[in-house]
Amino acid sequence: MTDAVKTDVAIDALRVDGPRLWDALMELAQIGATEKGGVKRLALTDLDRQGRDLVVGWAKAAGMTVTVDQIGNVFMRRAGTNDALPPVMTGSHIDTQPTGGKFDGNYGVLAGLEVVRTLNDHGIRTEAPIEVAFWTNEEGSRFVPVMMGSGVFCGAFTLEHAYAAKDVDGRTVGEELERIGYKGTQVPGDHPIGAYFETHIEQGPVLEDADKVIGVVPAVMGLSWYDCTVSGMEAHAGPTPMHLRRDAMQVAARIIPEVVAIANRYPPYGRGTVGMMQVFPNSRNVIPGQVKFSIDLRNVNDELLNTMHEEMTAFVAQVAADSGLDVKLERVSYYPPCPFHPDVVGAVRSATAKLGYSTMDVVSGAGHDAIYAARLAPSGMIFVPCKDGISHNEIEDAQPAHLEAGCNVLLHAMLERARVV
Ligand SMILES: [Zn+2]
Repeated sequence: MTDAVKTDVAIDALRVDGPRLWDALMELAQIGATEKGGVKRLALTDLDRQGRDLVVGWAKAAGMTVTVDQIGNVFMRRAGTNDALPPVMTGSHIDTQPTGGKFDGNYGVLAGLEVVRTLNDHGIRTEAPIEVAFWTNEEGSRFVPVMMGSGVFCGAFTLEHAYAAKDVDGRTVGEELERIGYKGTQVPGDHPIGAYFETHIEQGPVLEDADKVIGVVPAVMGLSWYDCTVSGMEAHAGPTPMHLRRDAMQVAARIIPEVVAIANRYPPYGRGTVGMMQVFPNSRNVIPGQVKFSIDLRNVNDELLNTMHEEMTAFVAQVAADSGLDVKLERVSYYPPCPFHPDVVGAVRSATAKLGYSTMDVVSGAGHDAIYAARLAPSGMIFVPCKDGISHNEIEDAQPAHLEAGCNVLLHAMLERARVV
């Protein structure tokens, strides 16, 4: 009894080694380092291989065993006292954007490694095994689709589909995996997960703006993407009287404010963006004959996202009828919102409270491997602030103290699930 109480106190006092975590991040960031202080380490390049080798070497030095599956996902395992239990897993990705930063993805993987190193330092055993994963091609920059490794793992698309994906030079994922020596033998998905945690920089400005250290992530927003094409008739801007025009731009200009209005009708997580526009023929003295633009609608609640979709569709139909122009609204992508598991979110919440960090809930507006992991196992995420909310940029930055705090939350949340023995 006394021993058990002592153990609980000792476990509560357990903290990761923040400087060691920071050093690992800085060392991995050397591989593919850019002049502006960022990282360019695209999926399945020689640099990716070097990054993978470095992390795998660290894992082996920490006594972990390493498994690679057929899509190149890597699982680094610290045995539990009951190895038949499914592992408590954490992970993320180590590929980057062409002008990426040091923290996106890399933090999630190295925070997991730091958890294991901390447990080793203190000789702490867990009943369930602990695993740290990095997933292949999360960024989707060199090869489409994004979140490829975790997507294949959970069966969102097939291994053959992923293998056939080509980069701009025509090299395929299958060839490149083989070339860098990371085409493993394990069948993707043939690998149980007891629970999945992912620590990540927020990639948005909410935590920094509210001056909070830990973001508890209850869900990831769903999204609906559209191509909208308005077709009119190009004609000379001078001789054509106003009442005889079929001006595609003016019709597009009626639709665009509605994208924002719809988002504003469904707060606090409604989002509406027109980020891309093509005008034909794009000449100052020609009435535009065709305007094509993108619409991006998001919300955290699927019902609300559907309502937004229906309102958008109805509005576009109305504008088409009023104007007499042909307006096509084509949905090109849809991801439902992903609510995380209450048990895992709860473990993050209670670890944060125990450690005394300032905290708030932050819904993720960006996709992560955890979305796919959530299809197979109870999953959740931990966010820490990043400077000015900026990522996918070489100036991406985060404070060592925040990264350390997120890693401490990960440690205690994982221990709650894996059970100290
Ligand atoms: Zn990421």
